[in-house]
Amino acid sequence: MIIPEQLLPTDGRFGSGPAKLRPEALDYLALRGDLLGTSHRQAPVKQLVGSVQEGLSELYRLPEGYQVVLGNGGASLFWDLAVCSLIERRSAHAVFGEFTRKFATAASRAPFLADPLVTECPAGAVVLPEVGDADVVAWAHNETSTGAAAPVRRLGDALVVVDGTSSAGGMDVDIAETDVYYFAPQKNFSSDGGLWVALCSPAALSRAERIAASSRWIPETLSLDVAAQNSAKQQTLNTPAIATLLLLEDQIRWLLDLGGLAAVEARCKAMTDHVYAWAESRNWAAPFVADVTHRSPVVATIDLSPEIDGKSLIAALRENGIVDVDPYRALGRNQLRIGCYASVTLADVEALTACIDYAVARL
Ligand SMILES: *Cc1c(COP(=O)(O)O)cnc(C)c1O
Repeated sequence: MIIPEQLLPTDGRFGSGPAKLRPEALDYLALRGDLLGTSHRQAPVKQLVGSVQEGLSELYRLPEGYQVVLGNGGASLFWDLAVCSLIERRSAHAVFGEFTRKFATAASRAPFLADPLVTECPAGAVVLPEVGDADVVAWAHNETSTGAAAPVRRLGDALVVVDGTSSAGGMDVDIAETDVYYFAPQKNFSSDGGLWVALCSPAALSRAERIAASSRWIPETLSLDVAAQNSAKQQTLNTPAIATLLLLEDQIRWLLDLGGLAAVEARCKAMTDHVYAWAESRNWAAPFVADVTHRSPVVATIDLSPEIDGKSLIAALRENGIVDVDPYRALGRNQLRIGCYASVTLADVEALTACIDYAVARL
């Protein structure tokens, strides 16, 4: 099947992570290419790390005393780090998709912790953790596997540890409602994978310091205290990917130029609103997340009726350069999942739905 060229989006990347990079970011990478292959212990790379930290402080209107901490390994590594460095005795998790489940599973395997409290709801819905006697409460701002977005607010006295991997840079949040808002930058931040960033409150930093001083064995790469000490000196514990930092720096500046997080959220919401309204107007498609208030403004999940062969549709789109609209693999639904992150444009999302209509009529 060949989709007519005039219907195609200018950029066919609609993945939910990794996701589209703006061509201008690659120009910036080339412009600063002299930094690649130089030491991260010297001033130019430290200035780059400092610029990322300052940019994120501005973007997130970081409250007094909060610190931008970063290290290698991505969001998945951060779950293990949080298990070692943030949970004192017991954590409580809301599980409403595969990413929230992974952190709960990591905590359940730690021999030095009590079994986590897990509050679960079906995929496509949202739930917050029951706090109980937990000292960390954890959930995701946006469950990328289902396209469901959750509120972010304090719950009891526990440290609030929120996975912002697919929301960060695309959804606004009051950081004062969290103790740790962590993410990897390959989604709205249009960078590469392999880095984690955590916006940490003074309470989270002192928790990490206290646990580090206790008898618990913590591998150095999983110590938030060690990462925070390095970050305070504009460094990471070990060698970071400089290209990832440059792409992140460029995107932070671009998001600030767009008007900051509220403006970016409105931009993303215009795209997902288009997708939801389009799906509601087709008798073979429907938004997966039933509760309108929980529909993600950055990742739209669309159920297809059984008579539509989603696999063939996705394959036909891919042949025409439209990639990564697959559903989350473990969800196993006849579904499309469309990443409407900050770098994507509304015109391209409109072109995408036109291309889907074209393909569905010819499957
Ligand atoms: C993508 C994603 C992750 C995994 O990120 P990695 O950097 O690949 O470990 C974790 N949580 C959420 C919410 C995500 O969207």
